[in-house]
Amino acid sequence: MKEVMLIKLGEIVLKGLNKKNFEDKLIKNIREKIAEVGEFEIKIMQSTIYLMPQNENDVDFAQLEKKISKIFGIARYTRAAWCQKNLDSIKETVAEYLQKELRMAKTFKVESKRSDKKFELKSPEISAAIGEHILERFSNLSVDVNHPEITIMVEIRDFGAYVHADALPGAGGLPVGMGGRAAVLISGGIDSPVAAWMMAKRGVELVAIHFASPPYTSPRAEQKVVALLNKVAQFSGKLEMITVPFTQIQEKIKSNCAEDFFTIIMRRFMIQIAQKLAQKYRCKALITGESLGQVASQTISAIACTEAAAQMPVFRPLIGMDKDEIVAIARKIDTFETSILPYEDCCTVFTPRHPKTKPILSDVQKEESKLNCKELVNFAIENIKITKIL
Ligand code: ATP
Ligand code: MG
Repeated sequence: MKEVMLIKLGEIVLKGLNKKNFEDKLIKNIREKIAEVGEFEIKIMQSTIYLMPQNENDVDFAQLEKKISKIFGIARYTRAAWCQKNLDSIKETVAEYLQKELRMAKTFKVESKRSDKKFELKSPEISAAIGEHILERFSNLSVDVNHPEITIMVEIRDFGAYVHADALPGAGGLPVGMGGRAAVLISGGIDSPVAAWMMAKRGVELVAIHFASPPYTSPRAEQKVVALLNKVAQFSGKLEMITVPFTQIQEKIKSNCAEDFFTIIMRRFMIQIAQKLAQKYRCKALITGESLGQVASQTISAIACTEAAAQMPVFRPLIGMDKDEIVAIARKIDTFETSILPYEDCCTVFTPRHPKTKPILSDVQKEESKLNCKELVNFAIENIKITKIL
């Protein structure tokens, strides 16, 4: 009996003419992610990807499952046993391969799929024969077709039969790389890593941009962002983090502009710098972790002023989400515990006492005109630092 991994495609199956491109990309992403687990032969047939270990003894399936669970484009996945396409061999394989689960359960059902129409029995007949065999072998079990504790799946394919229990839910979404590239503005907070994850889920390849204001922000704050990106990268794949020096800009804003405009002017600088970097790094959009009304700089008026500094699309995947919903995702992707570690963010260091919640663009621009914006932006861009993540 040989063990394999079966991967069921998600939204990709709905694609039309470019379906093959999506499948190829997914297979490439899978190949890269599992390279360190072992060597595999990879096949795709009827919206199922088969990972077959070249040398089964070398493969840690638990580790493989962990990797697969974090690859976007996968709806479900399961370990399965591969056996000869004859009823006796399938019966034996089911009873042996799933014996631990079958001993613990009280109810089961069998579902069969037959893509090889030359196989001697039809799907309902296969299910009936296997079910009968299981009832004989496991006295603790009875059949429940509506709410079984365990569903035994038997798939008869061209090159063999596969047996497995219920498949596990995959990460969903689309293969990373199929949605183009975008630059995510990442702080050390809860929201931006979740925003990054959500866009990677839609197939977007990421570049991360972080604004640091030493000595007001410490190297530890930057390390925290690296730690967060390491979690995100487990889903998105390798990425580059661009650290932008922001101290000079913040100090200039503080000494030249009216206090209630600090945040909004700062955010417009972030967008302008991020956009220039995005262009340089072949990104077609920006991503932020803003959520409507969460803070003064995230009202409709404030966002309109920030957005006016951008000429490329700014994606805000959290815009309509409550903090609780964002936290639930942060926990799921394991960024939450890192995000809540205490740190200084460049935003919090220069927070005005009474930020404007309804800024007017012309007023903001008037305040900004007190600064040499172009020179400040260029200085920041010339002094970036790149860190490779993963
Ligand atoms: P987060 O939890 O992501 O820090 P937040 O609720 O604290 O978000 P703000 O501080 O207003 O919100 O920031 C809004 C968005 O601006 C962030 O989600 C992020 O995309 C971006 N941002 C804020 N600070 C930085 C920074 N230091 N570097 C890069 N981007 C930042
Ligand atoms: Mg923040």
